[in-house]
Amino acid sequence: MIDVILKKGKEKAVHQRHPWVFSGAIERVKGKPANGDIVRLVNAGGDFLAYGFYNDQSRVALRLLEWDENTEVDEGWFRIKVAEAVAGRNDILSTGDTNTCRLIFSESDYLPGLIVDRYAEHLAVQVLTSGIEKMMPVIIDELRRLLNPKSIFDKSDASSRQHEGMDTENVVLFGDNPPASVEVKENGLLYNINIAEGQKSGFYCDQRDNRRKVAAHAKDKKVLDCFSYTGGFTLNALYNGAASVTSVDSSALAIETLKENIQLNKLDAGKHRAIQSDVNKQLRAFKDAGETFDIIVLDPPKYAPSRSALDRASRAYKDLNRIGMLLLNKGGLLATFSCSGAMDLDTFKQVLAWAALDAGKQVQFISQFCQPEDHPIRSSFPEGEYLKGLFCRVF
Ligand code: SAH
Repeated sequence: MIDVILKKGKEKAVHQRHPWVFSGAIERVKGKPANGDIVRLVNAGGDFLAYGFYNDQSRVALRLLEWDENTEVDEGWFRIKVAEAVAGRNDILSTGDTNTCRLIFSESDYLPGLIVDRYAEHLAVQVLTSGIEKMMPVIIDELRRLLNPKSIFDKSDASSRQHEGMDTENVVLFGDNPPASVEVKENGLLYNINIAEGQKSGFYCDQRDNRRKVAAHAKDKKVLDCFSYTGGFTLNALYNGAASVTSVDSSALAIETLKENIQLNKLDAGKHRAIQSDVNKQLRAFKDAGETFDIIVLDPPKYAPSRSALDRASRAYKDLNRIGMLLLNKGGLLATFSCSGAMDLDTFKQVLAWAALDAGKQVQFISQFCQPEDHPIRSSFPEGEYLKGLFCRVF
């Protein structure tokens, strides 16, 4: 195995078990590892620090896997990590009212670059590092052994793979092409998922708990679900007795699927209105028309892809929330989210405080939203925390 020598003074994060080593922290590589090979990280004195995946195409040149020198990172090691992650989701899946969740969440599940989502009997996989790519035969075999899925489909995100110098091909890894429509259940509600064509790997299962939490307030309320996608918040609110729900999304496919999902659950389509539009435009149209709501959900896409985009993103979040607040009836509820990892909860609270001031409203934070347990946050990898939200009462 090839040794990679860490620069003096760069040991701290490694000792704290942070899984990333940036290329700038590397002193020298003793030999020529291929990208995706497992190497030994050693300090300047040659002492062992950790084993990790090597990739000279990536800013993160090493993704650390194992800190115990005597534990070999072999096929068996990967099988154990896969099995442990899958076992960690048993409690979510055993209730019988949910058969879709994230089974493996990359670094947070000790498998840097591997994301596996379960959609009933089908799996959607993202392979985002060259190291994981090399291990895929073993990983697919272990997933088949544990779960016996009907299909495993590669739904890797092209831009993440580009950072690692890898091309993207969304292909079937096992079984047949997943059907155009897979029926899944979450919180007891049914959804049609288009694994191959849908956004991300097909469904935003990270909002499962928050959909339930918001819907608990929806009885007899007039609800506006912005960035509704295929209707996660909409369906839960209708099911819990909302007086009406309006869903807004710019994607025609999302709106079409949302309407199918309302039929699928035999919910009252008469209480639902779907609007395919840009949310910012539509909110202004509601304001001009004098239309107001009791509950508004704002679940926009990631506005801050990196720390450097945070200022700009903060202004966009502020503007969106300001208009949202203006459309609420007195004492109404705003469920507002940010899935930007660069935006922490304190900054998000600050953004909401600015929005309230600009809107001339008073805001109480009545609770906080976070990512669910199938998107764990590893204590040595705070970067894994990305989804946050605030439940606000607005006066
Ligand atoms: N709330 C959804 C997930 C939202 S994902 C759920 O529970 O499943 C973000 C959604 O925002 C996507 O469906 C995307 O099509 C939509 N979107 C992105 N930009 C938009 C815009 N400017 N106006 C309206 N919708 C937008």
